[in-house]
Amino acid sequence: MPVRDVKKQALAHILLTRDPGVTRIRKRTQSIGRRLLDTSTHIREPNFTAIDPGDLSFLFAAYDARFMDGICGQLLGPDGVTFRLSSRMTRAGGKTTRFRRPDGGARYEIAVATSILFDGFGAGDPNVTVCGLPCRHRLEALQRLFEHELVHLAEWLCWDESHCARSRFQDIASRLFLHRAHTHELITRTERAASLGITVGSRVTFPYRGQLLQGRVNRITKRATVLVEDPEGERWSDGRRYVRYYVPLAQLRPSDPVVVSEQER
Ligand SMILES: [Zn+2]
Repeated sequence: MPVRDVKKQALAHILLTRDPGVTRIRKRTQSIGRRLLDTSTHIREPNFTAIDPGDLSFLFAAYDARFMDGICGQLLGPDGVTFRLSSRMTRAGGKTTRFRRPDGGARYEIAVATSILFDGFGAGDPNVTVCGLPCRHRLEALQRLFEHELVHLAEWLCWDESHCARSRFQDIASRLFLHRAHTHELITRTERAASLGITVGSRVTFPYRGQLLQGRVNRITKRATVLVEDPEGERWSDGRRYVRYYVPLAQLRPSDPVVVSEQER
């Protein structure tokens, strides 16, 4: 059998059977986190404010060595996987993509969403859960996200397909990394706004050039679109005139009393 197939089989065996147990998994992942803090030039504290693709590369090598005997790296070769940070991904916390090469081979890219990572963990933010596990700080969130993407990559390598909604993926992620959910969502901006009691339709106040304006939230993306009644504004379907303001979520305050209900992610 060609060496490559032997390695694939060995990786598949690990993915389908290895069961390190809670204690060993926690020890290993915490040690990886500490080593990243010790060696990275950007990640210097658990709630780091800067990150570099090199940090993802470090995580890949460390996780592959500790959890998969380094076989992913051996199968991929030196340029088989690249790492990217994305500030544009706003719903998924991470993404693994496979690119076909002209010669029929494949290369992979693991991307991590910085916007979502950096949005969470502010003062007063709701608790952050990644892959069903509560995270105390950004580093834990980053590791959980990365573990999820690593399972995708390993599945691709063994079976030429990977789906986190399927039971094989979930079984691997729970045995190797204790994941309890397969959602890609970290804390999204919509949830962030919702946790403040603000959703589409909420009445809000916000500061604008020294005064406090009141309006209704029309849309939530990176900012909220708030419609403020104004005789000079454009006419809307309800017959009234509004001016649109784009307001950072942090500046909004609900102006109606709101009951915030805890929703399952
Ligand atoms: Zn996934």
